[in-house]
This record gives sequence, C-alpha cells and structure tokens, in this order.
Amino acid sequence: MNKNVFMKIGVIFLLFSTFIFAAKVKYSKWEKGLSIVSYLAQHDISKNILKTLDQDDLKLLDEVGYTHRYFELIASNGVLLQTLLPIGDELQVHLFRTQSGYEIEIIPISYQKDTHIALLKVDKSPYFDIVNKIKNRRLANEFTRVLKHSVNFRGVQKKDKVAIIYDQKMRLGQPLGMPDIKVAMIESHRKKHYVFKHSDGKYYNENGKVLIQKYMRKPLNHVRITSHFSKRRYHPILKRWKAHHGTDFGAKRGTPILAVADGKVIFSGRKGGYGKVIKLQHKDGYVTLYAHQSRLRVKQGTHVKMGQIIGYVGSTGRSTGPHLHFGLYKNGRAINPMRMVKFSSDGLTGKARRVFLNRKRKYTKIINKIFKEDMPSHIWNTVHEVSVRPSMKKYYQNRGW
Ligand SMILES: [Zn+2]
Repeated sequence: MNKNVFMKIGVIFLLFSTFIFAAKVKYSKWEKGLSIVSYLAQHDISKNILKTLDQDDLKLLDEVGYTHRYFELIASNGVLLQTLLPIGDELQVHLFRTQSGYEIEIIPISYQKDTHIALLKVDKSPYFDIVNKIKNRRLANEFTRVLKHSVNFRGVQKKDKVAIIYDQKMRLGQPLGMPDIKVAMIESHRKKHYVFKHSDGKYYNENGKVLIQKYMRKPLNHVRITSHFSKRRYHPILKRWKAHHGTDFGAKRGTPILAVADGKVIFSGRKGGYGKVIKLQHKDGYVTLYAHQSRLRVKQGTHVKMGQIIGYVGSTGRSTGPHLHFGLYKNGRAINPMRMVKFSSDGLTGKARRVFLNRKRKYTKIINKIFKEDMPSHIWNTVHEVSVRPSMKKYYQNRGW
C-alpha cells in the first residue's frame, strides 16, 4: 500500500518535471477567503470535478484559504497544468490537467525535514538576534512563546547565549509550516534555562513540569475522547489520505457545549459536513470550532465568556452519532487541541516521565557539546529525512529549489 502511494507521489513529481521547461512554476499566496469553487471558476474548470471527493475531503477543502502559499504549473499558452495547494502541514490538494479535462485529489505533501542546531550570542535581544542571524521570524516567535513562562526576557543581557534545536520542513526549497522546537535554552547570569518538547506536543522544564500557560478549559464538563487529532493518515479501506483536524468527544444529544476561552463568535450556522457549527475567535490568533451541534445558542458577532454555554451536542452534518467535533486553529492552521486545553494534571509521571528524562538527557548532551566547543553563531544541518525520491531531491537541488 505504502509503496503504491510512494510511486504515485513520484509520478506526480515526474509529471511536474517533464513540464518544467515548457511551463512556468508560480509560487503565490492564496488569496484570503478564496474558496476552491471560486478558484476553479477562475480557471474555467467545472466544479463537477469535486464529485470525485467524499464528504471528509470536502470538509478539508473548507480549510484552504488561510495563510498558505501554493504552487501552480502554467503552460506557455497560459493553461493551468497543475496546482499544489496545502491543507495544513501534511496534506495538499492536487489539481491537474489530463487529456480529458481536470482531476482533483488529496495527497500527502512531499517535504524534506532538516534538524538545525543554533547557538547565538545575544547582541540586542534573543528575538532580534534570531530574526537577524538565522533569518527566521517564525522561529523567533516560537522561541519567545515556549520560553516566556520560564525566563524573564528583560533580564537577558548582551553576551548571554541562546541555543535551539529545531526541525524545519522544506517543500520545493521553501519553508513549510512552523519550525518545530525540540529544545530551547537561554544561558543568563551563568544559569541555563531549558525547555523541552515532550511527545505530547507540550513544553516542560527540566523537572518535567508543564510550562505553557493554558488558558483554555474543556468544551464539555465530562469528556470522553472518541477520535484523536491527526494531520495525516492513510485510510486502509477507502485507500485515501485523510486528516482529522480536531478531537471528537462522545456525549449525549443535548449536552451543553462550553466556550473554552473568552472570545467572539465569528461563525454560527450550518456549514457542509460540520452541520450546525460555531467558530470562536480568541486572543493570540486562536480560533476554536464546535461542530455537529443540535442547537446553536449564540449568534455571530456576540462576545462569549470562558465556560459560557454556546450550544448543544448533536449529530448534524456528516456524523454517525451525537458527538462534539472540537477543532483548534492558530493563525489558520489546525493544531492538536490537546496542546492547549487542560485535561489532566500538569506533571509527567510514570512511563511518560521516563521517556521525557531520556529525551532531556540526549538534548542536554548536544547543547553542552556545542557550548564547550563554542560553535560560532550559525546553523548547520544534522539530519536529512527525505520523503521525495532521492533522485528527485538531487533534481531540485541542481535547480536551486
Ligand atoms: Zn471529528
């Protein structure tokens, strides 16, 4: 099964490459609010091609149109040959021209993942120096976000040191998604302040205490998870790539649904597979989504308080029984709700703690090593994980992609 999929990706990129010299590749930002249907109309493509997709795929299509950049391959006569448009970090819409017209499908994104280790001496501020020296503003934002609860940034002085180990995905030579920080450290007043990312996606200090201050509560008083968040999984029966951009909670019809944080209702109504759905806008670019409701209790434009009842559990839209589909988005990208919502106690115990301590040892060792050797302020790659064919990787590199 995997081999077939792998072959398919290869074929797509081979197609990409045979056209490449006769056609032009365009890399642009998706117009805000543009839907797939209007995009198809812009290119005189019938929306009937969407009929080959199922309801789950159509739900994912609802998520395009945020901050994504996409590729288009355009023939010299202006005809669109191919479009690759990301949905989140792992899947993409693949629209392509065949002899008989256009086809559309959802496929995994091929990317390369590099692990970077960075060591910087502070000149101005950690944020400023990361932007200036590593040229990665998103990394600077993430660094500040994960360390702000354990370090007083105002106390950081010139010549203090910053160390970061992070993964960055690259797609056709462009960064894809947010940098994934594994360890962040500031040495200030000769004391090292660390945070480590655990396998649950949360950041912990050296003692395994959770650090990100969570400001969201549970969306139901009693939660029973029936389906977890996933960015990419292969559906063995449907033989398709799927994603589940949310967490499902089983509950009886009519169970009150609560706002997880203060916010503004930016959508309240029916929406395709989600049925009766509410979207709330919160501070710091977070949006939460509550789908399949039986009854909505708040109108668009109103402000709600954390814990306020916004609607009731139901089974509207594409749903097999009463449940709440709860989605969390940061700046338009789906993220795992478990990362922000408080479900249980904050410390790691038992096996999770042992796994965490192993990880911590491994990363501390690397950081101590680069400190000892006083590596200069630059970044270097340590690992290459290639999910396109190695031969294709060379192809891209030769063309400076
Ligand atoms: Zn769901």
